[in-house]
Amino acid sequence: MVSPKQDIRIGFYVCHCGHNIASMVDCPAVAEYVGQLPGVVLSRDYKYMCSDPGQELIQKDIAEFDLNRVVVASCSPLLHEHTFRNAVAAGGLNPFLFHMVNIREHDSWVHTDRQEATAKAKGLARAAIVRVAHAKSLPVKKVPIHPDVLVVGGGIAGIHAALTLANAGKKVFLVEREPSIGGHMARFDKTFPTLDCAACILTPKMSEVGAHPNITLWSYSDVVKMDGYVGNYTVTVRRQPRYINEELCTGCQECIGNCIYKEPKFPDEFNEGLGKRKPVYISFPQATPQVVLIDPEVCLNFRHGVLTDKCKKTCVEACGDRKAIDFTQKVETREIKVGTIIVATGFKPFDVKRIPQYGYGSYPNVYTALEVERLVNASGPTSGDVILRDGRHPQAIAIIHCVGSRDKKTNRWCSRVCCMYSMKLAHLLKEHTGAEIYNFYIDIRAPGKGYEEFYDKLNEEGVHFIRGRVGEVTDWAMTPEEEGKLVIRVEDTLAGFVRRIPVDMVVLATGLEPQADSQDVRRLFNMSCGTEGFFLERHPKLAPVNTFTDGIFIAGCCQGPRDIPDTVAQAGAAAAEAMVLIDKGYIEQEPNTAYIQPDCSGCKSCIPLCPYTAIAFDATTQKAVINEALCKGCGTCVAACPSGSIGQNLFEDDEIFSEIDGLLTN
Ligand SMILES: Cc1cc2nc3c(=O)[nH]c(=O)nc-3n(C[C@H](O)[C@H](O)[C@H](O)COP(=O)(O)OP(=O)(O)OC[C@H]3O[C@@H](n4cnc5c(N)ncnc54)[C@H](O)[C@@H]3O)c2cc1C
Repeated sequence: MVSPKQDIRIGFYVCHCGHNIASMVDCPAVAEYVGQLPGVVLSRDYKYMCSDPGQELIQKDIAEFDLNRVVVASCSPLLHEHTFRNAVAAGGLNPFLFHMVNIREHDSWVHTDRQEATAKAKGLARAAIVRVAHAKSLPVKKVPIHPDVLVVGGGIAGIHAALTLANAGKKVFLVEREPSIGGHMARFDKTFPTLDCAACILTPKMSEVGAHPNITLWSYSDVVKMDGYVGNYTVTVRRQPRYINEELCTGCQECIGNCIYKEPKFPDEFNEGLGKRKPVYISFPQATPQVVLIDPEVCLNFRHGVLTDKCKKTCVEACGDRKAIDFTQKVETREIKVGTIIVATGFKPFDVKRIPQYGYGSYPNVYTALEVERLVNASGPTSGDVILRDGRHPQAIAIIHCVGSRDKKTNRWCSRVCCMYSMKLAHLLKEHTGAEIYNFYIDIRAPGKGYEEFYDKLNEEGVHFIRGRVGEVTDWAMTPEEEGKLVIRVEDTLAGFVRRIPVDMVVLATGLEPQADSQDVRRLFNMSCGTEGFFLERHPKLAPVNTFTDGIFIAGCCQGPRDIPDTVAQAGAAAAEAMVLIDKGYIEQEPNTAYIQPDCSGCKSCIPLCPYTAIAFDATTQKAVINEALCKGCGTCVAACPSGSIGQNLFEDDEIFSEIDGLLTN
């Protein structure tokens, strides 16, 4: 084993972590063993090194024993490396003269033999002792933070995050790809469990966004490029042409009234295709911004999106002196600089056609939950009158839960909101139609505040709950009562037999899935996704709105299914995290960056390998240069450099080789 340099004075601490480590590792024996290694002047075991007394112990010992290196053997560096670095710095040492050994996740938690686990802990500690002798003092670099924030997605998550930041005086760019902000919530009539009117709570927030002096709202837009690093992102936003000048349009909608199409003719996306709109339209009455748009695919002045100028342009006449209509508008791009980004791109409902046995698309009276949200809505296509596609009013309605959730064949996860919104729709459908309502469920999941009480209320209202996964929806009648009806075939798992229930209308409670383009968005913002495709948080408990890219946060259903209260809470948390960075004004950078040594031959082989585009070529010096702010210390270039001319702070060759040496030499 290489013996440490003469002037090295190492303090070693092994943590019991309560029973987490001490139950499998003989901590006093490890401390005693390490105390005899060359260079170690002090070796202790302690119950909780991360506690205040544990940290104070390190600080006191640095002064008393003149320590110039510290090693702590405890849990994962992910959890407490910063804690101990801070303790070492408070004791007067450079924080990078410290090394941490993980004897919990790497040892006590994964072994069952105490003797062997103790031997392994000794080996890991020995390796760290030899390595830390080569540690160098490093400076902490500070990178300034641009104070502006980008919020991507204008659902309730994006709206709440943007308003929180803007009300705190921060400048926010809110980019929404649909013509209006509002997301899914804007389509709902009521929200569970309080049944308060969704528009009444959402639209004031939407108007506030539209009028807020600190918010620049770009709807009908999306982000196409992001460069830079935490505190200094350069983002390119693509703005789709509305063929309406946003500054000049007053939202009077005269153009819609005077369109050459006298009647609405084209499927209305906001109403899930249940209503019709004209080629010039506004998504819904409270749309924000209150600016109309023209659909070039169906407008007579275009042919399949290409301008022909062949329409009489009655809309232009109606607009008059306002001159807001501009058929020559093109896609525009804008470049903005921001310091932090909140991604709040939401979810997409499960595509029910993937379960053909439920008959969506084959039987007209099978609906998705979102369609029913529009049907029961006073501002929906039928003004809240529940008329079926075949013109009848339903007398019996089936609501099938867990469509595309908790199913190995589609999605394994629970979508968390379907039980509750199914009950909400059951209540509203009963209120609007007086029909018999049957809920087909696997388990009722109602864990939120007032949710269980809502379930009780539904039972009292006489809504039926039948436990069992529906096998199929069919129109094949076996009895006279089933004639002209849709029949639900289900195994009632409480009663223990197969039932056939005839109904007039079927509602499919679709699960929540990641957006179709979530992989593109993930790549754009250097984020990760979990196995199911939702964006991955840095730590599920301790950093639930952070991502693995510094300065980029997530909020709402893009991280996983959740209801509106949880979405709003998370959006507030993401805004707070962004504000912490902005108000601090700078971030301290981990100095684990790579650097180019003078003997670089300028072969450029490292440049395309860098996943963070942190390496460039300096034509004057004919050598590679590394942008430290972009470098994440992944080490790819260090390993790939053919002439060994790239070094990396905290991972120098002598540190790594001595650690291996220490591990292998007894
Ligand atoms: C049928 C149904 C009923 C529900 N009822 C209730 C209820 O009563 N109460 C309740 O608490 N919860 C309910 N929920 C859950 C609720 O919808 C969600 O909690 C909420 O919508 C999540 O908000 P969000 O902002 O995260 O996502 P979304 O509402 O999906 O908003 C995301 C926004 O981001 C935009 N976007 C997406 N990708 C991009 C991109 N790349 N660039 C720019 N913009 C983008 C979208 O256009 C959208 O405007 C219901 C869900 C469903 C399916």
